[in-house]
Amino acid sequence: METKLRQLFALQQIDSSLDELEELKGDLPGRIRELEVQEASLKDQLSALETTMRTAFTQRDNADGEIVALREKAEKYKTQQFQVRNNREYDALTREMDAAQDTIVRLEKEMEMLEGKATLARSDIETVKVSLGELEGALGEKRSALAEVSKTTEEEEGKLRHEREKIVHRVAKGDLAQYERIRRAKKGKAVVPVRRGACGGCFARVPPQKLLELRQNSKIYLCEHCGRIIVSDEIAVGKTSPV
Ligand SMILES: [Zn+2]
Repeated sequence: METKLRQLFALQQIDSSLDELEELKGDLPGRIRELEVQEASLKDQLSALETTMRTAFTQRDNADGEIVALREKAEKYKTQQFQVRNNREYDALTREMDAAQDTIVRLEKEMEMLEGKATLARSDIETVKVSLGELEGALGEKRSALAEVSKTTEEEEGKLRHEREKIVHRVAKGDLAQYERIRRAKKGKAVVPVRRGACGGCFARVPPQKLLELRQNSKIYLCEHCGRIIVSDEIAVGKTSPV
């Protein structure tokens, strides 16, 4: 049991050191994640705008092609009108020409609308590209700042993680789960020593009877006040030999 308590205490020491290293990185990792989310969203916007622009230009070109074809047709009807033999045929051609003209007017309006849509998308694309460029610049700066900090902490972090692995391997799953749960709930401090008869985490007094029991190092004691695991001085001082 004493071994178990030593292991948990050692685990806490390592995790606290890792937390300190993490603090050196400040808000950089969080800021980078935020910027990456923004970057992805801008890229989505950009590709949607590009699709809108391409589609509108294609539709405009199609309408343009239709207008050319209709004009040719109208010209043909005009020529045919000189060759008709009666009014009925003449009127039929006039109706065809009017219909073609109506369609041309409709298509010209459509072209104008599509042209406007495509142009708007194109200017939005430019705006989004500028934002994206700025964002990528900021992201690059934050990433190199983080890389700079990581370079100095990397070696220590590696050692600590290795040590952590070794201890975690020996701690019972249930104890580890309890430790992690308390750590999450208590801002990283799950195991604390007793100091002058008080919990090292919340400073609440530990009852004398409990202090006596605690010194036997025979089970996991939780602070009645904050719920952290409290260990005796003996465990805390002998922190270097968790095995
Ligand atoms: Zn406490």
